[in-house]
Amino acid sequence: MNNKSQKVAQNIIATEQQLGALLNATADMIYRMSADWTQMHQFEGKGILSDTQISISDWRTRYVHPKDYDKVDRAIEQAIANKKIFQLEHRVLKPDQTVGWTFSRAIPIIDEQGEITEWFGVATDITDSRRILEHLESSRLEIERQKRLIDTIANSTPDLMYVFDLDYKFIYANQALLSMWGKIWEAAIGKGLLDNGYEVWHAEMHEREIDQVRATKKPIRGEVSFPHAVFGERVYDYIFTPVIDEHGNVEAIAGTTRDITEIKRNEQRKNDFMSMVSHELKTPLTALSGYLDFMNLKGGLASDNVIEKAVQQSIKQARKMNSMINGFLNLSSLETGKSYMIKKYFDLTAFLDEIEEETRFLYSTHQFIFEPVPAIQVFADKEKIVQVIANFISNGVKYSPLHTTLTISCRIENDMLYLSVSDEGMGIGEDEIPKLFDRFYRVQANHLIAGLGIGLYICKEIVLDHRGEVGVTSEPGKGSTFWFSLPLTFGAP
Ligand code: ADP
Repeated sequence: MNNKSQKVAQNIIATEQQLGALLNATADMIYRMSADWTQMHQFEGKGILSDTQISISDWRTRYVHPKDYDKVDRAIEQAIANKKIFQLEHRVLKPDQTVGWTFSRAIPIIDEQGEITEWFGVATDITDSRRILEHLESSRLEIERQKRLIDTIANSTPDLMYVFDLDYKFIYANQALLSMWGKIWEAAIGKGLLDNGYEVWHAEMHEREIDQVRATKKPIRGEVSFPHAVFGERVYDYIFTPVIDEHGNVEAIAGTTRDITEIKRNEQRKNDFMSMVSHELKTPLTALSGYLDFMNLKGGLASDNVIEKAVQQSIKQARKMNSMINGFLNLSSLETGKSYMIKKYFDLTAFLDEIEEETRFLYSTHQFIFEPVPAIQVFADKEKIVQVIANFISNGVKYSPLHTTLTISCRIENDMLYLSVSDEGMGIGEDEIPKLFDRFYRVQANHLIAGLGIGLYICKEIVLDHRGEVGVTSEPGKGSTFWFSLPLTFGAP
């Protein structure tokens, strides 16, 4: 060996040593392959894959994951053919047989004749970052799946669905809402209510409601009517609900709106019908009652016991029917807001004496105790308060066994008059009580006892109109006490 080639050899050794030191300092795996990749001369696995110091030919089965054999083979073929760098991300088999990922790069060492003598490679363990990527990818797919689900639901309903940010801008609108506006998503999203065609009063109302939902973190519900471009005046029922972030703060307001125009129209038709029928029934009933009163008078003179009893029973039935019809008329006037109060002063004692007389006449099946009442004047709509007490009494009779006792009592507390009717009847389950005063609500178990479920609703409305309260305490099997309160002088001149 001449001096020159000795020097070259020394330089190569020195460079290899420096390179080796550099590679050892990295966490990457290093390998050397024969020119045709059939032999692996050396592999340092850095604890990630197992090392080999001797030349091996089964490197592929030892290190590469079977599913990536083809991929690796093709990349090698190309690299050899092009004499260019080999570069590939592929799966590997770890010593514990779990799957890992490496990013492998190998550079061909080319001799003076331009032939590859061997390959020198570095492989980086990218298992962790690959896992993170895979995780991100599966999260992305899951989010997209969820979005598809929500979009499908939201876009297949005729209800309007939308979300506002805290600056009252729409950040979501479903297809039904976009169609109602006649806008595409891009033109409507990011815009406020005014920009999307709402009138000023309407936009301001919703902005106030958004503020309220934000402040209270509670949903609100409202009804609004406004003209639709094609279908004319429509009525909408809407709910705004807070969207709460992970810290418990309101981050947006989601809303749904339902067109209830048809429901409202049907309700109106039903109310009109009910009111018309009641009026029509009232005329013949008044005539009938008049004739019965007349017969009662004559029957008394004829002193025929059987006829007298029959006439009196007919009078009772006619009065009950009259009070039912009044119930209907009241209901429809309440619903249409045409219920007026005629309040004046009346004497409580005289008032309850009348009720006692009427009650004893109507119900011979039960006993009644009318407790002494305070001698006071009450300022209220007398006819309506009669209805409340009469309703409590007729219910007490209806829902308690024959010959049991009903007690009617009054007391005054804090400028309020409390009036109650207690019975010894079947009582009411605790879970039924909150629904009892709702319109058309009837306790299921009592469906064999005739009733319409409007009496207590009307009582509640009448008492609320007087700024009083209604309630009931009850013990199933023992009896109930229905009560109401009235401010003694509310609205008095
Ligand atoms: P209804 O015409 O059905 O009596 P109401 O509105 O007067 O309608 O009463 C509603 C329901 O409340 C009744 O169906 C009945 O189940 C229950 N209820 C009312 N009063 C009493 C009572 N005194 N005892 C037991 N249940 C009662």
